[in-house]
Amino acid sequence: METKLHIEPIQNWSIYKGRPLLISGPCSAETEDQVMETARQLAALNKVDVFRAGIWKPRTRPNAFEGVGSEGLKWLKQVKQETGLPTGTEVATQKHVYEALKFGIDVLWIGARTSANPFAMQEIADALKGVEVMVFVKNPVNPDLDLWIGAIERLYAAGITHIGAIHRGFSAYEKTAYRNQPKWQIPIELRLRIPELPLLCDPSHIGGARAFLFEIAQKSMDLNYDGLMLESHINPDCAWSDKSQQVTPQALQELLGKLILRQPVSSNSKFLDILGELRGQIDMFDDQLIDLMEQRMHVAETIGQYKKDNNITILQNQRWEEIIRKVSIKGQSKGLSEEFIDQMFKAIHQESINHQIKVMNAAN
Ligand code: PEP
Ligand code: MN
Repeated sequence: METKLHIEPIQNWSIYKGRPLLISGPCSAETEDQVMETARQLAALNKVDVFRAGIWKPRTRPNAFEGVGSEGLKWLKQVKQETGLPTGTEVATQKHVYEALKFGIDVLWIGARTSANPFAMQEIADALKGVEVMVFVKNPVNPDLDLWIGAIERLYAAGITHIGAIHRGFSAYEKTAYRNQPKWQIPIELRLRIPELPLLCDPSHIGGARAFLFEIAQKSMDLNYDGLMLESHINPDCAWSDKSQQVTPQALQELLGKLILRQPVSSNSKFLDILGELRGQIDMFDDQLIDLMEQRMHVAETIGQYKKDNNITILQNQRWEEIIRKVSIKGQSKGLSEEFIDQMFKAIHQESINHQIKVMNAAN
């Protein structure tokens, strides 16, 4: 299903100077000096399009730093006056919206905990009726594309046409290298559902650590995202929130310098754009297939060990027939030919057997 929204193409937004649109600044506004100095250094890079700083911080546990509140809006106003940079902050309630607008904030974004809550989204949308402001919606913390789209639709219904999405990854209980799981297929699906919707990537909140920022940013550029939100702080190690993922303006410059923005070489750029995006999807699925196979073989090895310990043969015909029956029914329902399913699972089965044999024949 394609959602028909008449969203302003990002090329027409006043803040857009070219790809990637870059929103940068500290996770949180902490002090006037920290905000002003970070903004001066970022403005000097001549690469940043919007200066960000969190004023109200949604924290997981109470007693953590919850933001400086409205006082920080004065500093953002000063940033704009002194550096000329448009400013942006996160809003989660009607009060935040009114306060931010009062201080002339150019870009609002809805955080991941808020976009997951339709009541909060509706309240914010109501506060934005008739207002001309640019709004980005971060993906909800849970991997639910419809919830993300629903948040966007609520703003659209309130008359906001300068709407974009920010992909910041999804929470999981399991500990993974990244702070939040990217689940790239979700923003890709969002693109297919609302092709004109500007899409930014937030490598800071996906990665959660400096070491991952570049690879995530590069991947998003290779998937044709329109821009990036990257947290930057003059002294990241002393930041009051999200210290391990923030970089100095200098380090940000180095990261941007390494980014490869692949350009289509053909004159038919639209065709190449779409082709590149689709190939990016293919590569991603192939990657996932291999990861899945690795996991499957790992389980097969565990089974091999278990059978060995219990003196049971590797090949269990009944079990194999059951697998083939199940996958061919499912394959058919998904439009995959019987021949393909048959060949693929025979190959997978053979590989499983090889892994089990290796375990069985091992010395212990
Ligand atoms: C932030 O941008 O600092 C923030 C709190 O983001 P998120 O809503 O993605 O956690
Ligand atoms: Mn942050």
